[in-house]
Amino acid sequence: FLSHTLQAKMSRPVQARRLEGIDKNIWVEFVKLAATYSKVNLGQGFPDFPAPDFLTEAFTRALGGGNHMLHQYTRAFGHPPLVKVLAQFFEKLLGRELDPMTNVMVTVGAYQALFCCFQALVDEGDEVIIIEPFFDCYEPMVKMAGGTPVFVPLRPNPPKDGKLMSSADWQLDPAELASKFSERTKAIVLNSPNNPLGKVFSRGELGLIAELCVKHDVLCFSDEVYEWLVYDGRQHIRIASLQGMWDRTVIIGSAGKTFSATGWKVGWVVGPDRLLQHLRTVHQNSVYHCATIAQEAVAQGFQRELTLYGKPESYFVQLPKELQQKRDWLIQSLDSVGMKPIIPEGTYFLVADISQFKSDVPDVPNSDEPYDYRFAKWMVKNKGLAAIPLSAFYSEAHKNNYTNFIRFCFAKEEATLKAANDILQKWKQEKTS
Ligand code: PMP
Repeated sequence: FLSHTLQAKMSRPVQARRLEGIDKNIWVEFVKLAATYSKVNLGQGFPDFPAPDFLTEAFTRALGGGNHMLHQYTRAFGHPPLVKVLAQFFEKLLGRELDPMTNVMVTVGAYQALFCCFQALVDEGDEVIIIEPFFDCYEPMVKMAGGTPVFVPLRPNPPKDGKLMSSADWQLDPAELASKFSERTKAIVLNSPNNPLGKVFSRGELGLIAELCVKHDVLCFSDEVYEWLVYDGRQHIRIASLQGMWDRTVIIGSAGKTFSATGWKVGWVVGPDRLLQHLRTVHQNSVYHCATIAQEAVAQGFQRELTLYGKPESYFVQLPKELQQKRDWLIQSLDSVGMKPIIPEGTYFLVADISQFKSDVPDVPNSDEPYDYRFAKWMVKNKGLAAIPLSAFYSEAHKNNYTNFIRFCFAKEEATLKAANDILQKWKQEKTS
């Protein structure tokens, strides 16, 4: 009798329905592959160069500086010095007054900021528009909230003159975008600068999105974690600063990307209290707050940047310069072997076309696995070079249209990029000899 009841209990489904179909995760899979096989890892997006001294010194000061209360809980919605300086900083960027207590909230990385947006503002049956290619977690997060993701792709327009493509050549079709908005649409997720393409949306493109948001009374979750990483003199434009958008936009940021310290997992949201009050409800009932010491150090980092704002010594001025150089090294390496890069206008990433390498990794017709997945796996196992398949950033229905590209992260030491170049050059020689 006893064994019968035990068995009956064990056969009951244990998994919550909201987890159906979201168990696979590209990062878990490819981080493991990179750890096992890679000699050079240009896969996951993190710098292999150190965070700036002023930041790590601030952390050390916070740790041992005599204020033992920094080892204890702080305010749930953000350590007061951090929300204060973030409010001051974003007042400058947005040209509007901000209340640090109600217009800013600190989160466990941008990941939790996104999670709070979806949990707090998306209901069962709501539709959320996601622009493809997208940072992969948007889709499962919409689904976990009970919402339905609606995808709209950036469409590539190859340049006619044989030049390399730029991320700016990937554009929304205005009519197609408009067709995705309906009375069921609750929000659109915008990610500019965009991971994985590196696209920096222009004022015109943002204006189009803003107009549709206002017309259909739709919210905008604006993932701006790469806000400081724009190249070639381009400017990052904040959609919240466009007409009618402040009241409907949550800006999402990350100290990980801002200060090259992705492991600290400090992120934030900035927005109107009418939206943030609901994000606070999710936050206080799930995470409560993130490490006080990390928040204290990030606050000091922002304090420094506030004083140096726009000056050549500012990290927010220096970092994009350094990354632009790294981007150009990788572009050169890839272009010289025929793995055509799409020149990114921003971010840590660039996407490259692997069509000319197809003879090395033949296609298997009717395979469940997209070609770029197989290519990236083969490359890390056989060449020791790790990258991420682009189709991982597409919905199931559209994956198969984008299987000729892989994404590289160039936020790496010069030596790492040189080692990648060595692998690529050797590979090319083997192909031609
Ligand atoms: N959004 C985008 C577009 C990202 O690329 C990332 C990190 N790869 C995140 C959010 C998450 O940021 P964090 O590490 O601060 O959680």
